[in-house]
Amino acid sequence: MSRFRLYPTPAQQVALLEQCRQARYVYNLALEQWSMWTRDKGPTPGYVEQAKQLTEARAAFGWLRAGSQTVQQQALRDFDQAVRNFYAGSHRRPTWRKAGLHEGFRIVGSQASRIVKLNCKWAAVNVPKVGWVRFRLSRPAPDAKSYRITRDRADRWHIAFAAIPPPIPAPGTGEVVGVDRGVTVSAALSTGELLTCPGLSDREQARLKQLQRRLSRCRRGSNRSQRAKVAIAKLQARAGDRRKDWVEKISTDLARQFDVIRVEDLRIAPMTRRPKPKPDPERPGRYLPNRARAKAGLNRGILANGWGLLVQRLERKAAGRVEKVNPAYTSLTCSVCGHCAPENRESQAVFRCAACGHQANADVNAAVNIAAGRAVSARRETPPRVSPKREPQLATSA
Ligand SMILES: [Zn+2]
Repeated sequence: MSRFRLYPTPAQQVALLEQCRQARYVYNLALEQWSMWTRDKGPTPGYVEQAKQLTEARAAFGWLRAGSQTVQQQALRDFDQAVRNFYAGSHRRPTWRKAGLHEGFRIVGSQASRIVKLNCKWAAVNVPKVGWVRFRLSRPAPDAKSYRITRDRADRWHIAFAAIPPPIPAPGTGEVVGVDRGVTVSAALSTGELLTCPGLSDREQARLKQLQRRLSRCRRGSNRSQRAKVAIAKLQARAGDRRKDWVEKISTDLARQFDVIRVEDLRIAPMTRRPKPKPDPERPGRYLPNRARAKAGLNRGILANGWGLLVQRLERKAAGRVEKVNPAYTSLTCSVCGHCAPENRESQAVFRCAACGHQANADVNAAVNIAAGRAVSARRETPPRVSPKREPQLATSA
């Protein structure tokens, strides 16, 4: 995807939002049909069947006919893809599209190629039923067969073209790097470099807290709550922008510098799921503390560091050069002699080998292990007792 900032006029924003509303309506209708379907009604309608129903609905309802057919059809395509992903097991069950949260639609085919370059900084795209909308050319516009227009919660519009940029060629030096991703340090390299993902400053964080407190005291749906929501979304968007920018820079750097990049094979989604409630065996209907708040904090840390995104971008930029390594015991094993014991880990930050005395930053030590691709056997005399949060599970699917 290559994404550009879109600058619609206020009148165009109204028209664009109407398109988003229709795409969402059609998607939710398809979801409703799919989830309410019972076996006695015959096979579940797929895309073709639903597209036929859409044509009938457009003939019957004027307001639907007033919208773009491409937008509505593509909403059905999106839903079809969501169902496929669900059955393939890679995604969870499709969920409702919500106003304010899911604002977007897709244009494909010949309509997607109506783009003109205005000057070196601006271009315009002819959106069906909206007209020519300007977007900022932060880099050359790609030649794509489809695009998606979205509005984020901070009220910014974007246009994303479905064009995958070519991967970065390997430097050919034969050098290997290991990347250990952590919470206090976002990424440690086997070269000894420690990288921190930028987030919000202390002042911005304080402001975010203040706004969240204000929102909790507002009446739901009031103008005050709406204003607080937008202000919160703007701050969160800023944090997200910084994180994405950091991930892009780091992944490009790594792909340019090293031939092989080894990362831990982590499953972020199961790791960051909320902990299960613990029923109290003595008092039925009551629950024991399950450290949900602590886990929520850790999850925030993991997600804020953009773990998943970094690997995803690396796999795109350094296609075929990213290797996933079993993460088991990489943080407890000495990178010099291979001695593996929980005593090695003096603290969260310091690693000191109990056998050979090797001392290093704990994350760098782990990164060296990852770079070596050392598959440490789990069979040992004294299995260490490690929290599942510290030693993540090995992914079963690639
Ligand atoms: Zn050692």
